[in-house]
Parts: sequence; structure tokens; C-alpha cells
Amino acid sequence: MADSYDAVVVGSGPNGLAAAIVIAQAGKSVAVFEANESAGGGVRSAELTLPGYVHDLCSSVYPLAVGSPFFAALPLGEHGLEWIQPGAALAHPLDDGTAILLERSVEATANALGVDGVAYRKIFAPLTAQWNELGKDILGPPRWPRHPVNFARFGLQAMQPARRFAERSFRDSRTRALFAGVAAHSMLPLESWGSTAFGLVLTVTAHALGWPLASGGAQKLTDALISYLRSLGGEVFLNQPVRRLEELPACRVTLCDVTPRQLLRIAGPGLSPVYWNRLKQYRYGMGAFKIDWALARPVPWTAQECSRAATVHLGGTLDEIAASERAAWRGYQARKPFVLLVQPSLFDSSRAPQGKHTLWAYCHVPNNSHLDASERIEAQIERFAPGFRDTVLVRHLSPPHELERRNANLVGGDIGGGAPTLGQLFFRPTRQLYSTSKKGLYLCSSSTPPGAGVHGMCGYFAAQKALREMF
Ligand SMILES: Cc1cc2nc3c(=O)[nH]c(=O)nc-3n(C[C@H](O)[C@H](O)[C@H](O)COP(=O)(O)OP(=O)(O)OC[C@H]3O[C@@H](n4cnc5c(N)ncnc54)[C@H](O)[C@@H]3O)c2cc1C
Repeated sequence: MADSYDAVVVGSGPNGLAAAIVIAQAGKSVAVFEANESAGGGVRSAELTLPGYVHDLCSSVYPLAVGSPFFAALPLGEHGLEWIQPGAALAHPLDDGTAILLERSVEATANALGVDGVAYRKIFAPLTAQWNELGKDILGPPRWPRHPVNFARFGLQAMQPARRFAERSFRDSRTRALFAGVAAHSMLPLESWGSTAFGLVLTVTAHALGWPLASGGAQKLTDALISYLRSLGGEVFLNQPVRRLEELPACRVTLCDVTPRQLLRIAGPGLSPVYWNRLKQYRYGMGAFKIDWALARPVPWTAQECSRAATVHLGGTLDEIAASERAAWRGYQARKPFVLLVQPSLFDSSRAPQGKHTLWAYCHVPNNSHLDASERIEAQIERFAPGFRDTVLVRHLSPPHELERRNANLVGGDIGGGAPTLGQLFFRPTRQLYSTSKKGLYLCSSSTPPGAGVHGMCGYFAAQKALREMF
């Protein structure tokens, strides 16, 4: 380790690594300090259950990584990254034993939606065609959009509550349920303003980009980013929890891939009282309760088409999903929680021994909830896949406090780096976005725009700003 660097990055999540790469690409020296024994934050894999079973500790499905203008410009393929595209992006099983599929093509999806086919096509065909331009505005910080007409058209729909948008746009309860499940990725009640944005963006990415997995597991994406960073001269140090900024080597710029609560701790008295107070008011969102399973065989879905998608949403109807999200937001655990499930080994045989499988699922729970949600999650899987419990070899539970223990950014189990309420959707964590009150100190985590998801754009924009201002 050198005595000084041009820039130091605290935290090696996708945003921390993106920030380090931008700095290294500019010819500056950079080192990343990571608290954990493995790099990657929300993009890591490990044998959580049994030897030979590779589980993604957090994220698994990467439309935003494929759609990230920054990641797309990096030679990650040359550094070992390969994407796997499942046949369909998403399956949403229903109680009548059928499932609706979010297919790669708008046309194929619309054709299966009966009375809503025309409405679906009308909403999603133009947005999908415009993704290349729209995506740049959506995955950027708040600024005058490059394509104002398209963006305004998108924004008018996107700002609505998802329940209202689904009920006004679609007549069939199946289509409404499909949209509600995608919008619930927002981790907002579906009655909240802005929740439609998540449903629209993620549905469009399914058509424009697919919802791919990283071959070999999430860690391969982190490994590729680190391998490229090292090829530029960047360094990564593990097992280095940063408690105070003063512990770091001398540097002109510090980029923190942490959330406001940790910044208060590590930057402490160096921050102005006004900025300190603003960070103190930052609001965290719902938590997640995650389970990883090693399975003896694939999940026995009643609707067999569920095996065509890596991602499966278990929540039945719009009303049920809305009730689940409302409950978690208000501090209760729903009896029938909306469950987001990923079955990677169906598409990637390297994840488990031959014939065996890995699976993960989580539901939203109140922030920092200590209730065991595992029974309720498994009951939801059994509902659409009777006999599921007989396939389980080992289960590994990650309640909110365990998620936070493994990654301090997951405050109370909040996987989004802070609630994406209207006030915090664009201007997060404060109106200063990446800058702090201390010269040379920047935030670059998902607590800055464009927010949660594996895209690296928070790190990219923070590092661009630091380069402009400090070098
Ligand atoms: C269960 C789960 C499932 C998810 N699924 C998906 C998905 O399928 N697709 C998707 O796009 N997104 C998903 N996400 C969200 C995604 O993982 C995050 O939005 C993304 O990882 C945020 O990146 P980041 O770099 O801001 O922070 P993180 O990835 O959280 O990384 C922060 C890093 O900083 C380190 N750190 C924190 N404090 C310190 C300190 N003081 N000193 C040193 N190091 C420190 C942490 O250890 C960590 O490595 C999921 C998240 C979770 C938890």
C-alpha cells in the first residue's frame, strides 16, 4: 500500500468500483478499501449452503448492468464476464395454475394478454423503441433531459401511483398483477407517487435488454470490474473497514460508496452542521428477508412455463401485492408476502452439482424487522409449486440484520440505499447529490442518483464530478 493516492474509494460495491475505474481511466492513482473479506458489496457469490452450490449473496439479475452506458463501454467480456439470457425475463404464476410471462418481445407478451394486448403494446412498444435515448436520461443525475419530449411523455405516466396506472391502463386482473409485481421492486407502497416509474423502467428493460444473469454467479461481474481496474493500475484492499477518514492514506479525493448514516460516522466532525442535519434526515426504506436454498431438484411449478424465466414473482393479484408492500412500509409483516424469486441454476449449470439447484427469494419486511418470514415465504412458493419443501436440502436465512452485518450499506435490511420517495428519488441524499460539505469528499453509492440497482452510474457521475472539481 502506498502512502498517498490521487483518490481513495471506500467500499467496493459496483458504484465504488465504477468510481475507481473512472479515476484510473483518467490516469490518476486510486485505491479501494473494502470492509469485507470479499469485494463486490451487493454483487458477490459464496457457497452459503453446501460445497459446490454457488449462491448470490444479494443481486442476481442484471438488466441495469447491461443497460448501463458506463459498464457497456468497458471491456468486461475480456475480463471474464459472460451474460446468460433466460428464455423469458419474468414469470408470474396465478392461482388458476397458469402463469403470465414477460417475454423478450413486446409482441409475444402482448399476444398473451387478451383484452389488454392492445393497451400493453401501446404503452411498451414506443418506450422499448426509445430505450437507447430514454435510458441515458433515466440512468443519469437530475438535469435537463437530452430528449425532453420523450422524457416528458414517460415522466407523466411514471409519476403516478402504480395501482392507479395499472387499474387505468389494463382491464384484466392478470395484466394488473403482472405490472404490480414489477412495480413492487420500487419498495414503495403501490399507492405511492412515483412507484409506476419502477414498473415502467423494469418492464421496458425486459424487452429492450433482457433480464440476464452473470455466468458463474454475481461475483464474476465484480471480478471482471476488479480485473479491469487492476489493468489500469488501480488497487483493491480487502478486510479494511474504514472507521474514520483520517485512517486512509493521504489523497486529494475520497469517494465513499456508503450510505448517509455511515458517512456521518466516518466523516464526523469534518462535515458542516447544515449538511450533517440534512444527512440525519435521510429516510431508509423497507428491509428484505432473504432465503437461499440448495435444492435436490428444480422447483416443481404447477405452471411449467415458470421454468422459462430466472425471475419469478409470487403474489397472485394486484390487491395482494399492494397489501403486502403497504404492510411492510407501515411496519407490519403481511401474512401472504409478495415474494421475488430467482432460480439461476436452471440456466447456469455451474451454480450447483449436476442435477441439483440453487434458489433465492426475498420479501419486503419492515426496516430492521426481527420477525422470521421464512415460513411465509416458503408457503408462497408451495402455493404455486406444491411439493417444493420436499426438494430442499439446506436453507440459509438472511434476515435484515444479517444482510446489514454482511454489508453495512444495507441499513435495517434496506437493499435500495434509502427509500425512493418522491423527495429522495431525484435529489438523494441531499440537493448536493454527490458533493458533501467537505472539499474533496464525495458520496458515490446508491444513496445518490440514479439510485439502487447494479449499474455503476452513481460511481461514474460522482467520479466525473471529482475529476472536474479536484484535478
Ligand atoms: C438481496 C438483494 C437482492 C438484490 N437484487 C438485485 C438484482 O437482482 N439486480 C440489481 O440490479 N440490484 C439488486 N440489488 C441491489 C444492488 O445490489 C444494489 O443496488 C447495489 O449493489 C448498490 O451498489 P453500491 O456500490 O452502491 O453499494 P453496495 O453494493 O452495497 O456496496 C457497498 C460496499 O461498501 C462496503 N463498505 C461499507 N461501509 C464501509 C466502510 N466503512 N469501510 C469499507 N467498506 C465499506 C460494503 O462492505 C460493500 O462492499 C439487490 C440487493 C440485495 C441486498
